[in-house]
Amino acid sequence: MKITIFGTGYVGLTQAACFAEVGHSVCCVDIDSARVSRLNAGHSPIFEPGLEALIQTNLAAKRISFTVDATQGIDYAEIIFIAVGTPPGEDGGADLKQVFSVADAIAAYATSAKIIINKSTSPVGTAQRIKARVNEGLARRHLALDMRVVSNPEFLKEGSAVEDCMRPERIIIGIDDQAGIDIFRELYKPFSRNHDKLIVMDSRSAELTKYAANSMLATKISFINEMANLAERLGADIEMVRKGIGSDSRIGYDFIYAGCGYGGSCFPKDIQALRRTAAEVGYEPHLLDAVEAVNHKQKHKLFENISKHYHDDVSGKTFAVWGLSFKPNTDDMREAPSRVLLESLWNAGARVQAYDPEAMNEARRIYGERSDLVLAGSKESAVEKAHALVILTEWRNFRIADFDELKAKLIDQVIFDGRNLFEPSRVKQAGLSYYPIGRTVVR
Ligand code: NAD
Repeated sequence: MKITIFGTGYVGLTQAACFAEVGHSVCCVDIDSARVSRLNAGHSPIFEPGLEALIQTNLAAKRISFTVDATQGIDYAEIIFIAVGTPPGEDGGADLKQVFSVADAIAAYATSAKIIINKSTSPVGTAQRIKARVNEGLARRHLALDMRVVSNPEFLKEGSAVEDCMRPERIIIGIDDQAGIDIFRELYKPFSRNHDKLIVMDSRSAELTKYAANSMLATKISFINEMANLAERLGADIEMVRKGIGSDSRIGYDFIYAGCGYGGSCFPKDIQALRRTAAEVGYEPHLLDAVEAVNHKQKHKLFENISKHYHDDVSGKTFAVWGLSFKPNTDDMREAPSRVLLESLWNAGARVQAYDPEAMNEARRIYGERSDLVLAGSKESAVEKAHALVILTEWRNFRIADFDELKAKLIDQVIFDGRNLFEPSRVKQAGLSYYPIGRTVVR
């Protein structure tokens, strides 16, 4: 099938590459010309395991193409995906400018009927608003084309986006006129080999499903962080509590790791947007408010521990930082807890020597050259002449540490661990101080 996708970010690009890989022909449109040039040369603008190889194979097979020309994209296919950003607006609600600019382009340039599929996470009612907007635009051109608008929220996870797209757990189709559902079965057939993954519903329910899913996951994280804060005060160990509750199949082990808070481009903005939606319909979302408040506090937790250890004076100290991305296997630093920590340390007069396996360019782009930031070439060089080590992201190669070397290198012999990577008893044995989250502090 021929498909056009607007937006070549984590969602649009991954979905495009996966559609091409299973044999569809895909035209990708993006307004960022530098990104399009990179893609046409076979380079992925984002780090996502396996993605660049898929782009290269499918460029060679001529099943994927990239352009900045919206008209070309609109002419190319009957099926048009919208996978552009929906960042937070000033009032906390989702800013739909990018989504509506694609809708406006379709209204301005389409010369035949289209199926418009919105993959961007958008508030309830957006599919209906897109439809109304496109139809108004067409009316101005004195055209009456059959435009169908469907909500198809995306559930891929950064860091395993290709895998998630190739083997989705479910595909939500929010369609108000279900007569056209067969086209989705065909489109997604290659991804539904062992059983039908399609869950069909109306567009408003599909839109709310995406926000409900992210809110549920964020709730689990804030819940375990609240328990961790209690565990610290009560002399209990959150790791034991995690295993104790995770073994209950109604609870499960996923998403109940205590840490320094959730970040990324989705949870923070989607919780905010759903709170905004609730306010618009006159509902006070107490639980969502608490989820966000707990997370906000948790992102300051590491700096609180540091301040406690250093009696509120870190000026002139150098902190080694392991991990900048908001989670492993991505270079994405949007809303990452690392940013809160770095900025708190700098405000307090400290220096940072940071290392991340993938996010160094992103850190350079965000912070530029500054005298209080050194971007180190390895986790070992980050700790050279540092006073203390702070761990922000649970990258696999941070899990094993040479404690003797850390003891020799860290001037103040202390580790602040935002991801509970080590056993406190092991760190104690090595003679280092250790501040985990929700576990016994070793001093
Ligand atoms: P992104 O910021 O990585 O990419 C968006 C892309 O859209 C950019 O390349 C931008 O240049 C392009 N763009 C903006 N306006 C455009 C226009 N008018 N025409 C063509 N291209 C345009 O965003 P993302 O992370 O891929 O997220 C996209 C949507 O999917 C968001 O609504 C997000 O909430 C949702 N989502 C993201 C994830 C994730 O893990 N990143 C997961 C599920 C859903």
